[in-house]
Amino acid sequence: AQHFGIENVLKSLGLLAENEGTSTGSQNFSSGELIHSYSPVDGKLIGSVRASTAADYEKAVSTAAEAFKTFRLMPAPQRGELVRQFGEKLRQKKDDLGKLVSYEMGKSLQEGLGEVQEMIDICDFAVGLSRQLHGLTMHSERPAHRMYEQYHPLGIVGIISAFNFPVAVWSWNTALAWVCGDVCVWKPSEKTPLCGVACQNIIAEVLAENNMPEGISCLISGDYTIGELLSKDKRVPLVSATGSTRMGKIVAATVAERLGRSLLELGGNNAIIVTPNADIKMTVIGAVFGAVGTAGQRCTSTRRLIIHESIYEQVKDAIVAAYAQLRIGNPLDQNNHVGPLIDTDAVKTYQHALEAVVAQGGKIIVPGGVLTGAGYESGCYVKPAIAEADNSFEIVQHETFAPILYLLKYSGSVEDAIEIQNGVAQGLSSAIMTTHLREAEQFLSAAGSDCGIANVNIGTSGAEIGGAFGGEKETGGGRESGSDAWKVYMRRQTNTINYSTSLPLAQGIKFDL
Ligand code: NAD
Repeated sequence: AQHFGIENVLKSLGLLAENEGTSTGSQNFSSGELIHSYSPVDGKLIGSVRASTAADYEKAVSTAAEAFKTFRLMPAPQRGELVRQFGEKLRQKKDDLGKLVSYEMGKSLQEGLGEVQEMIDICDFAVGLSRQLHGLTMHSERPAHRMYEQYHPLGIVGIISAFNFPVAVWSWNTALAWVCGDVCVWKPSEKTPLCGVACQNIIAEVLAENNMPEGISCLISGDYTIGELLSKDKRVPLVSATGSTRMGKIVAATVAERLGRSLLELGGNNAIIVTPNADIKMTVIGAVFGAVGTAGQRCTSTRRLIIHESIYEQVKDAIVAAYAQLRIGNPLDQNNHVGPLIDTDAVKTYQHALEAVVAQGGKIIVPGGVLTGAGYESGCYVKPAIAEADNSFEIVQHETFAPILYLLKYSGSVEDAIEIQNGVAQGLSSAIMTTHLREAEQFLSAAGSDCGIANVNIGTSGAEIGGAFGGEKETGGGRESGSDAWKVYMRRQTNTINYSTSLPLAQGIKFDL
């Protein structure tokens, strides 16, 4: 790995200290089996992290609970100051953390750096928010009474995250949760454990410099079994889980069983509608980046292009020509467009999907395949593929986490395209390419896209932190990041204060003693 300068990266992020990847600076809630992290970039072992045992988990949760007792009383703008300092540290570590994300997860260096920038952005957002955790005041129906609502910290926020955004998703949750006065226990994906330790080391430094208890941010490592402890735990009022719909259904049911709160960010099956009024050049860039960026492993990756029949051949030819330009290879080399899939299991899923689309009646127009030879030793590099298909195919209805793009044809009006777009179980991101006002507004109307994200003349992927992020239907309904997403991290309390000398009852009810 030395040729990427990864040794220096690991050192700078505190990952070369003792304890197989856990720096001496931060608390260690991991004493179990080793989890080895192999890079999909070159197949080499990057490092190992110890998994958390049930006893480690107990220690983490009780440490977090203890920290909450004091943290909830700290004024929110002071909590914001901690987040500001965290954002500053991230600025200093951006290059190193971005490289680690790229090397451990496999996304391009530009996207790795972008992910860290997203962390910085959400910190900035949260700092401002720390002075704006507003509640409303209401007029009481009773004389000399005052009514208002306030938001209090919730407690321990459990965060379960996916491999594909190994650092940003955590910060979307934590930056808001911390200004809200919550403490966090994070279980990162077992496929990207080092990114988890690196982030924990950065926040641990900030907390230590401010003499704050490290229980404000706890890291637990391991697979789904350790995640299950979080969803079952009554001491964890909110579980924020990002990952597959399969996982989300289990977590939702477990958390609901104890009437806890869950925030779910699950799979997408995102489409771009291309109308006869589309700017074709913009469409091609948006669609190709959406389909092959992060090797098709974004929750917002473009999976379906719904193209009007009148321009179908033209768009198809332009996209196929663009695919011919794609360079596949080491994502740390900025000349490449497409990096590897996360592991060889993901490669098998990709291969299966390509077989399935043909078996179900589709036609491959840009063939896929697994790359071998020099530079592709990890066995995780695949060719982005395109198939002509029908929305009703079972495989098209399914989210395959790989660079496979389905071309679907529509005839008639934009309503027909919207029906196809909405005709899947997932509801995360959607887009329309059109310069026609009526089409754009129809797409955004109540009868338009049923997704949490609906874009005009932008692809499906690449959200900004200022908006609430999330989706409907099997995407889980949760919202994170901007707008008023912070409210889920707090508990709302309605307060009525009587400053009169009598006790009038609401609704004019008489009760005399
Ligand atoms: P995954 O569901 O396999 O794993 C996600 C996380 O859940 C991991 O940390 C895993 O250990 C944990 N987990 C799995 N089963 C669990 C259980 N029963 N109880 C508790 N925890 C459990 O997903 P993945 O392969 O890491 O990520 C890809 C998926 O994530 C895709 O479906 C993608 O669309 C989705 N995703 C969604 C968003 C979003 O914001 N909507 C963002 C990123 C990824």
